[in-house]
Amino acid sequence: MSELDAFREDTRQWLEANCPESMRTVGRREDMVAPGRNQKFPSDDARIWFERMRDKGWTCPEFPSEYGGGGLDAAKAKVLRQEMQRLKCRAPLSDLGISMLGPALLEFGSEAQKAEHIPRIVRGEIRWCQGYSEPGAGSDLASVQCRAEDKGDHYLVNGTKIWTSFATESDWIFCLVRTDPDAPKRDGISFLLIDMETPGISIAPIQLISGDSEFCQVFFEDVKVPKKNMVYEANKGWTVAKGLLKHERKMISELSQDFIGGTLTLRQAADEYLGYDKNGKLKEPGLRAAITRHEMNMRAIELTAYRAHLEGLAGEPDSRIPLIMKYVSTTEFQVKDELMTELLGYRGLGWDDAYFSEEELKSSRSLLFNKSLTIAGGTNEVQLNIIAKRALDLPES
Ligand SMILES: Cc1cc2nc3c(=O)[nH]c(=O)nc-3n(C[C@H](O)[C@H](O)[C@H](O)COP(=O)(O)OP(=O)(O)OC[C@H]3O[C@@H](n4cnc5c(N)ncnc54)[C@H](O)[C@@H]3O)c2cc1C
Repeated sequence: MSELDAFREDTRQWLEANCPESMRTVGRREDMVAPGRNQKFPSDDARIWFERMRDKGWTCPEFPSEYGGGGLDAAKAKVLRQEMQRLKCRAPLSDLGISMLGPALLEFGSEAQKAEHIPRIVRGEIRWCQGYSEPGAGSDLASVQCRAEDKGDHYLVNGTKIWTSFATESDWIFCLVRTDPDAPKRDGISFLLIDMETPGISIAPIQLISGDSEFCQVFFEDVKVPKKNMVYEANKGWTVAKGLLKHERKMISELSQDFIGGTLTLRQAADEYLGYDKNGKLKEPGLRAAITRHEMNMRAIELTAYRAHLEGLAGEPDSRIPLIMKYVSTTEFQVKDELMTELLGYRGLGWDDAYFSEEELKSSRSLLFNKSLTIAGGTNEVQLNIIAKRALDLPES
């Protein structure tokens, strides 16, 4: 038996023995376990599952074991993911620290920063939020104006960040700040880690049409940030920002459809809600063609991701693939939602009425939630500009 096969066998047995039964079902967004100083668990099983995975370092399987992570290489981490998917195990912990900041710190952080922050991310002690966007800097992120002045032993931060997801519930924020207003815009930006309990920070939740308010605007007024909290070098924050965005886009393109959209597949919905003609074909030829096209596209995305994975293992990664994956995946997620809504008809338009099944309600929520995926982490139009320039080498117009 190869080492990888043995690892698969052990992992399978461990998951079977340790993942509580109720954690082997598709969770709703509200079932997600978030970290933090005031961490709360949606159930006892969620806590037990989190603690068992944390103790193995499998909240962050690929982080180095010296910082408490699982220390798995890419091949073993993939086996773990596959075995978790096989049992339908939920993620034990979800946070921007795991998917975005941690990998960026491992690449750009100092030894002291890694030692301070990575173990706390693995152990779920700190919840992180992202302070990139500003009222005048979204797609044109390099226009950030939030200012950090060098005051000798600390930076003094003044300005604002917007669309900061879950800022009210987060403990720390990673921020892009302007440290040299006179330099060309990308050369005057730095990357700062800021404790949200620092005096001078205030947060205003932004009410959404759905009634939720996961978005916030964060205000900084004379906020003192120790110099040790600057990642990489002063005025080189754009390099860190780009590195982190790669992880953000990968995370968005890999978001589980099950998590957002329920387990109902288009084929099951076609069976149940549309039916077949006397030749055994779906009643609507247009929908039949569209579903087939979507399934082929999803298969192509899956195979491309697998090819990228193998090329990475072979030390020959194709840098164009990550550029296209967020665009194609999020676009196809939305295609699936539209097709599902068409198949479900009026039953795909429920919000919270007991008249609708749980799967039907998940479908309508997915339709609305997934609209945000082609905006968050860089809009599709901007992604297309990047693909045209860096993947296809097209001339600028
Ligand atoms: C669900 C969600 C969560 C988010 N969470 C966070 C967070 O936690 N922290 C954070 O910092 N930000 C967050 N954001 C903000 C997100 O990064 C921005 O919304 C995004 O970068 C777009 O910026 P904008 O909203 O300012 O739109 P704009 O940049 O104002 O764009 C408006 C429109 O113009 C188009 N456009 C702009 N420039 C070009 C161009 N050069 N070529 C073609 N078209 C163009 C865009 O595609 C878009 O359609 C989140 C957004 C969403 C939807």
